[in-house]
Amino acid sequence: MSDCTDRVVGNILAGWRYDISGLAPEMREDYERHFAECDHCRSRQKLHRGIDIALMALATISAFVFVLAFAVIRHFVPQHAFILELAAMAGFLLSALVWLLVAIATPAPVVVVAAARSGARTLHDRLPENIREKLPEELRTKLIG
Ligand SMILES: [Zn+2]
Repeated sequence: MSDCTDRVVGNILAGWRYDISGLAPEMREDYERHFAECDHCRSRQKLHRGIDIALMALATISAFVFVLAFAVIRHFVPQHAFILELAAMAGFLLSALVWLLVAIATPAPVVVVAAARSGARTLHDRLPENIREKLPEELRTKLIG
């Protein structure tokens, strides 16, 4: 892997987990320029956002499994059903908390929204002209930006 082109900026970015979404636009400029120039930091940024999204996906699956466990316990009423139900509820709440923390502390939601918007834009561009014109103006300006 190539080295960072500017160690000082690279170290600052590493400290922020390569997340500059919280910065004011005028402060962001230098860092955005660095991301454009530096392969090392760009690939690290991708990696960290991938981890964030994977964490959210994992927390979502985990929460779903705990809800499923709760439903199964409810249905079959095994011995110590109440304790098992409490454990399933606690697991669900913990998963929801992890999901919320990742969503608040990382720019993962911003990345997902940007990806969804880019996907919608691609789809919009592929639509035949006559269908594209039937889309509400408001939606079109949102997609094209
Ligand atoms: Zn760099």
